[in-house]
Amino acid sequence: MRKKIVAGNWKMNLDYNEGLGVFSEIINMVKDEATGTQEVVVCSPFIHIHSLVQLAKGYQKVSVGAQNAHQAESGAYTGEISARMIKSVGATYVIIGHSERRQYFGESNELLAKKTDTVLANDLHPIFCIGETLQEREANEHFNVIKTQLVEGVFHLDAAQFSKLVLAYEPVWAIGTGVTASSAQAQEIHEFIRKEIAAKYNQEVADNTTILYGGSCNPKNAAELFAQPDIDGGLIGGASLKSRDFVDIIK
Ligand code: PGA
Repeated sequence: MRKKIVAGNWKMNLDYNEGLGVFSEIINMVKDEATGTQEVVVCSPFIHIHSLVQLAKGYQKVSVGAQNAHQAESGAYTGEISARMIKSVGATYVIIGHSERRQYFGESNELLAKKTDTVLANDLHPIFCIGETLQEREANEHFNVIKTQLVEGVFHLDAAQFSKLVLAYEPVWAIGTGVTASSAQAQEIHEFIRKEIAAKYNQEVADNTTILYGGSCNPKNAAELFAQPDIDGGLIGGASLKSRDFVDIIK
């Protein structure tokens, strides 16, 4: 059965020492807690990854991820970081297609499909993000938008590749706004996503896919969101920067 995961997305926050401090606190707090969360992932800026991996050694439940990777294997792309480099420092996950990448860096579904391939080719797990804007929801386009993101972004994968993927539903209007999707709204979309996966692959693949919710998730609303049958954990932005809040969500 699918894994329950809580993943933090630090975005462009915390300098090197601050990041190591927060991560050490997270490890110290989660190591003794019995929780329903089976894996904790921290997706840090690139510069932290190597050190966080060292700190996480011996803690089976804690993994480290990146927030982006270039679609090419290597080459003349000044300032970019490849999936192979990320793998070489011991990360296991890479967020792909976060709405901030789509919005501020113009990342299209087509580009994200290539990034997904490169991440998988380097034996890393993509955390592939999908979600509609407020305008799209108000126009009642949210189901279509999500289906298109799935079809164009990840449904080219075969079932074996797809099984390495984690999906994250993050309604753009809920990210960093303090406005969370209601548990019913989130569940409705997660159920829709799982049905689309079953239709594309089969029920077993759908049942085994971890689908995270993201968008203003906090210690107060996490329990109700994660109790929904098709919500398997969260992708946490702001609240992952504070170790106590993040660990309360994990619990
Ligand atoms: P938030 O961000 O928890 O701060 O809303 C979530 C995300 O962008 O992954």
